Amino acid sequence: MQRRRITVFGATGSIGENTIDLLTRQGGADSYDVVALSGGRNVKRLAEQAIALKADLAVTAFDDCLDDLRAALAGSGVEAAAGQAALIEAAARPADWIMSAIVGFAGLAPGLKALEHGTTLALANKESLVAAGPLLLGAAAKHGARVLPVDSEHSAVFQALVGEDMAAVERVIITASGGAFRDWPIEDLARATPEQASSHPNWAMGQRITIDSASMFNKGMELIETKEYFGIAPSKIEALVHPESLIHAMVGYRDGAIMAHVGPHDMRHAIGYALNWPERAALPVERLDLAKIGQMTFRPACETRWPALRIAREVMEAGGYAGAAFNAGKEAALDAFLAREIGFTQMSDVVAAVLDRLSADAGLMKSDLSLEKVLHVDHLAREEAARIVRSLQH
Ligand code: NAD
Ligand code: MG
Repeated sequence: MQRRRITVFGATGSIGENTIDLLTRQGGADSYDVVALSGGRNVKRLAEQAIALKADLAVTAFDDCLDDLRAALAGSGVEAAAGQAALIEAAARPADWIMSAIVGFAGLAPGLKALEHGTTLALANKESLVAAGPLLLGAAAKHGARVLPVDSEHSAVFQALVGEDMAAVERVIITASGGAFRDWPIEDLARATPEQASSHPNWAMGQRITIDSASMFNKGMELIETKEYFGIAPSKIEALVHPESLIHAMVGYRDGAIMAHVGPHDMRHAIGYALNWPERAALPVERLDLAKIGQMTFRPACETRWPALRIAREVMEAGGYAGAAFNAGKEAALDAFLAREIGFTQMSDVVAAVLDRLSADAGLMKSDLSLEKVLHVDHLAREEAARIVRSLQH
C-alpha cells in the first residue's frame, strides 16, 4: 500500500495528542509521510511531535510563538511557520488525510481549504460544522472529498449506519454524560464556577469542551452536527442522558430495531476508526467487561436544566446562518464565563439573546451560505454577545 500523507491540525491538544499516539503506534514516520502538524502556544511539544514524526512542516497558530518554534526545531530540518495564513497554506499542501482538531471557529478556514483540495478530512472540530455545515459539505461534494466524523457520537452513528438505507432511519439518539452538574440541584447552577465546570465526571478533554459538556452546549452543538453530517430532519434527532457514557449513539430504524454503538471512554476509538476507515484496525482501547459494569442507565435530557438543548433545536429548525450565530454567541459567552463576567446559567441567556437580535435581520440570516458571510455573522454575533454581557453586568 502507498504511504499515506498525513496532516494534523491541533496536534498538541487532547484530540491531537490521541491522534499522534495512534500514528506513532501504527508505525509513525516509518508508515506515514507526515506533511504538517499545527499547534498553539505549546511550541516545545509541537516541535517534539514534528521531529519524532519527521514532519515537513510545523505551524504555530500565533505569530509571537514563531521564534520559539524555530529555536525548538533548530537543526531538525522541519520547516517552521506561524499564523492563520500559514495554517491555510499547510491545509493546501497535498495530503491524503487531514485531522481537524483545532478548538473553536478557527478550525473552519483550514478545514474548508483541505476539502477544496479534495483531501479526506477527519473532523473533530465540531464548531466548523455547526457554524458552516452546508459550506463544508458542499465543498466536499464539489471537490470529491470526504468528511469523516471524529466526535464520538457521530462516529458511532456513522458506524451504526454501515450497510443501512437512510430511508429506513426513523430516529437518531445521541447520548450525553450530563456533564459536571448532572446531579446538582437546578437552583445551584447559577453559582457554579469555571473550576467546577472544568471537571468532567467521566473523562479528560480540553477545558472548553468540558465546560460545554456541563452546560450541554456541547450536546446542543452535536444535535446540529447530526443534522448536518447525516442530513437527518431535526424532529428525528434526540439527546438522551446516559451517565455511564458507554453507548455513544443509537440509530433507530423503521422496523423498531435500534443499533447502539457501545465502547469505552477513549477518543482513540473514534479517531482510529476515521484514520483506518473503511477498515477496522486493531486499536489500543480498553475491552469492556459488561458483566463487571453491570448496568447502564438513562434519563431524559431536560431542557429546563439545560436550555442549550432547546436553543440548539431552534437553530436546527432555522438553518441558514443561525448555526454561525449560535456558535459565535456560545464561544463569546464561554469566554465571558471564564473571565467571570457572567455566571454559568447566563451563558444560555447570552446565546438566546444573540440569536434573537441577529434573527431580526431575516435577509441576512436566510441567505445562501458563503465563507465571507459566515465570518461576517460570526463577527456580528461576537459584538452582540459582548454588548449583552456588558448589559448583564450592570
Ligand atoms: P484542546 O484545547 O485540547 O486542543 C486544541 C488544539 O487547537 C491545540 O493544539 C491548540 O494549540 C490549538 N489551538 C487553540 N487555539 C487555536 C487557534 N486560535 N488557532 C489554531 N489552533 C488553535 O481541544 P480538544 O479537546 O482537543 O478539542 C479539539 C476539537 O475537537 C474541538 O472542536 C472539540 O470540540 C472537539 N472534540 C474534542 C473531544 C475530546 O475528547 N477532547 C471530543 C469530541 C470533539
Ligand atoms: Mg462528542
